[in-house]
Amino acid sequence: MQDHIHRFRHHDIEGAIIRVLEDEELTVNEFLSEEHQLEDGNVYEFAYTCCYLKHRGKHILVDAGFDPDTTPGALESIDVFPEDIDLVLLTHADRDHVAGVLMHDGTLTYPHARHVISKQVWEHLSDPSTLEALDDERRAFYHKLARALDSSIELIDDESDIADGIRFIPHDGHRAGHAVYEFSSSETPLIHSGDAFFHPIFAEHPDWANLTDSAPELAVESRKNLVERASTSAALILSTHIPFPGIGQIRKLDELLYQWIPIELGF
Ligand SMILES: [Zn+2]
Repeated sequence: MQDHIHRFRHHDIEGAIIRVLEDEELTVNEFLSEEHQLEDGNVYEFAYTCCYLKHRGKHILVDAGFDPDTTPGALESIDVFPEDIDLVLLTHADRDHVAGVLMHDGTLTYPHARHVISKQVWEHLSDPSTLEALDDERRAFYHKLARALDSSIELIDDESDIADGIRFIPHDGHRAGHAVYEFSSSETPLIHSGDAFFHPIFAEHPDWANLTDSAPELAVESRKNLVERASTSAALILSTHIPFPGIGQIRKLDELLYQWIPIELGF
């Protein structure tokens, strides 16, 4: 049985990485183009996580996981309850990130939270042609999501502060309108990078395309900006899919060459 929660502290921010699905053994080569195929070390444990943060007195979730049971169950083990959550910040709307927003009966799992997502993600989802391309089960899910969030969802377009010390940063390409979130701390910032990095190799070589991104070239441009920003500010980086708990820092070595440094932070 794998650990389902990893607690950490980054200066005055407390956090917990929550495993929302079991790891999946993948090969990084399946994401990479012919010219970037790795010879060794390309099999790895692809994690599925979401993240809880206590930031300036607020209880925050970045993404909500795949179902309405796993994340609340993990939160309960650290005495945080669904009614306590003030903010749910969504990086994009793939099911493993967003499905936990809804209870099985279609009501909101975190009833008192502001829910934030990029305007572009929401418009893409609201486009009938997007929904028509999905199977019945997925289409029904996104209809249910739109209904539940209709009156309360906050749509953000450009880079901006969305709460005290929390910045919305567009990071287009993985999916249309994918975004990351930056949190100020008493020292260096913390950035939740969502699906910017499926594997550390994409942080180390930001110009290498991930072929599973919806718009690989756009995602490369976003990653170049993000790694430069994160290495300049010495930010702590959180990630959904880098092997659990997926916490690290990015150090610049040369032009378009960076190092991913996994960080073991205790609580
Ligand atoms: Zn994902």
